[in-house]
Order: sequence, then C-alpha cells, then structure tokens
Amino acid sequence: MTAVRDAFGRSLRNLRVSVTDRCNLRCQYCMPEEEYVWLPREEILHFEEVSRLVDVFITLGVDKVRLTGGEPLLRRDLPELIKLLAAKPALRDLALTTNGVLLAEQAEALKVAGLGRVTVSLDTLSPERFTALTRRSTHDRVLEGIAAVTRIGFTGTKIDTVVIRGVNDDELADLIEFGKRVPAEVRFIEYMDVGGATRWSWDRVMSRAQMLETLERRYGRIEPVIEHSTAPADRFRLPDGTIFGIISSTTAPFCADCDRSRLTADGMWYLCLYALAGIDLREPLRAGASADELCALITGKWAARRDRGAEERLATRDHTPLIQIGQLRQDPHLEMHTRGG
Ligand code: SAM
Ligand code: SF4
Ligand code: SF4
Repeated sequence: MTAVRDAFGRSLRNLRVSVTDRCNLRCQYCMPEEEYVWLPREEILHFEEVSRLVDVFITLGVDKVRLTGGEPLLRRDLPELIKLLAAKPALRDLALTTNGVLLAEQAEALKVAGLGRVTVSLDTLSPERFTALTRRSTHDRVLEGIAAVTRIGFTGTKIDTVVIRGVNDDELADLIEFGKRVPAEVRFIEYMDVGGATRWSWDRVMSRAQMLETLERRYGRIEPVIEHSTAPADRFRLPDGTIFGIISSTTAPFCADCDRSRLTADGMWYLCLYALAGIDLREPLRAGASADELCALITGKWAARRDRGAEERLATRDHTPLIQIGQLRQDPHLEMHTRGG
C-alpha cells in the first residue's frame, strides 16, 4: 500500500460510493424541485467497475467505504456489490447510508452479503412532518426498516437527522430517546448549503451550540467525548451515559482532518462535497487503463488537493444558496443526491 497525502497532509482513507442518483423521497433540504435531470443509464458504473476502482483506492490507503446515493437501496441487486466489496480484507469498514424506506425488505440480504453497518436518515418521529418534509408518506416503512436492522443483528447502527429550525428542532430529545430504544447512536447534522439545497437559508440552520443548549435544558450537563478521530461527528455523553453526535458542517467545519472523497454512480470522483468539478474515472476505466495508471491518476489529483469547501464557505459569510437552480439543471453532478452526501 502506498498511502497518499494531499497538499495539507490529509490522507485518503474514506470513500463514499454513490450507486444511484435516483431517490424515492424528495427531502426539502436535498431534492426540493419538481423535476430533475438524471445521469444517463449507460454511464452508470457496473458493479465490477466499482469493485476495480475500490481496489485502486485501497492501494492508496482507503479502508472505509460507505455506499450511498440517491437512495442506494433502489439500485438493483445491491447485495451483489456488497459481496464483491466485503471480500476485500483491507476494507475495515463497509457501511451504507439509506433513507430506510426499502430497508425492512432488504436488511437480511444486505447482512448476508457482508454489509458491516447501517446508517438510516430519519428527521422526525411524526408521520405528518415526514410527509411534509419528504413529500412521500412512507414514515411507517422507515420505522419498520430501523426495527428490522436491529432484529437481523446489525450493530453500530446510526440515525442521521438534519436539523432545520422551525421544522424539527423541537424533536432532538425525542430522537435521542428513540435512538436509545433501537438501539442506535443519533447524529444531528447542521443544515448545509450544499448543491441541491436551493431552499437553504442561514436562519434555518440550528448550530451545534444551539443544539447543545437545547439538550442541556432537558438532560442537564452534557460532556464531550474525548477521542482522536477523523469522523465528521463530534460525540457527546448525556448524564445517563447515552452517546450522540453532532455534525457541525456549517458553523464549525472539520475540513482540516477531512480524509473523505466521493465517487458518483457514473464514476466521477470528487475531492470535496463543495467541489465544482470532479475527475472522470469512468472514461479511463472503460478505455482499458491499468490499475497502475488509475493509481497514478488518483495519486496525482489527491496530492494536489487543497479543498476545504465548508471552511471557505463559512469564511465568505455568503448567506445565499451555494448553487443556483439553473446551474444544477446543467450539471446534475453538483447535486447532493448525485454526490451521495
Ligand atoms: N438517500 C440516502 C439518505 O437520505 O440517507 C443517502 C443519500 S443522502 C444525500 C445522504 C445524507 O445527506 C443524508 O443523511 C441526508 O440527510 C444528508 N443531506 C442531504 N442534504 C443535506 C443538507 N442540505 N444538509 C445536511 N445534510 C444533508
Ligand atoms: Fe432525502 Fe437522501 Fe433522497 Fe436526498 S437522497 S432526497 S436526503 S432520501
Ligand atoms: Fe471535506 Fe470538503 Fe466537507 Fe471540508 S467541505 S469536510 S474538505 S468534503
């Protein structure tokens, strides 16, 4: 293995692999529009192609892969990809982020295929709010999906909640209590102005500090968990020992430690969630590039990486959505649901 470091000394450990840009929800903070431009089907990577690329990333130091989307469970035969990836001993962590709608029916096959962990996005415990937020009435199926994950024997389950002021900021404690029962660690994510979040505004962001203040009113003193990690969530402990996380991407970004990059379903590689351009890996892959050639391409790009998108965004104090709708229609790669979050 030849570990590679970027211009700021950050290694390349984490790869988020989007397996589809399609989704069966329309979350207001991610896909608020009526119509979308989809990636052409013939450009979507086959599982063997994803597997080959992951092998190259492994040789450069990647040991954690997270499957995402769009909604990854919409990708037909996903367990087949999981089998290919689970067979790679160098991958210490193989996880999936899903909206949970199709999880109850697929959880067992995912586990049998070798998936390590599941993160389910759940923003509210109220079916009515869920419908208003996602424009679909499938809240009960998400709850069934979460229950199935525990029943089937997954451990390390997480629940990710995007907190939006005036929408679900009164549910933080209820979600933590729900997490205790699952059991799952709940992580609150600050609302981000990523591509696709065309309804974002600063006054809808609830900051980490405000979340902690709200939770301390309910639970009493909350202690930070001291740990060395490049994971995006800062973790905290309630007086009863319950751990939860906050991903403060908007008000306190963590770019300095960022070891993550993203591969879209059509093989574009992004060095930062906020990057306006990616690197096309599908083209050389399909043109017959060898593993060494792909390795050299990826190494060169990562070595030159200077991205720290969220920090720069915070520094500009620009409080309008990052990317305007016209730009998104011209390049779906700018969308969060294409990049995989
Ligand atoms: N569809 C799957 C899901 O929702 O879990 C996987 C893809 S989704 C793009 C990945 C994560 O991005 C989800 O947890 C979602 O809540 C988060 N996300 C999307 N838009 C966001 C935004 N504007 N701010 C913060 N998080 C966002
Ligand atoms: Fe919601 Fe995930 Fe779909 Fe985006 S990709 S609309 S966050 S379920
Ligand atoms: Fe990493 Fe870019 Fe997110 Fe910063 S904004 S943490 S560099 S992906």
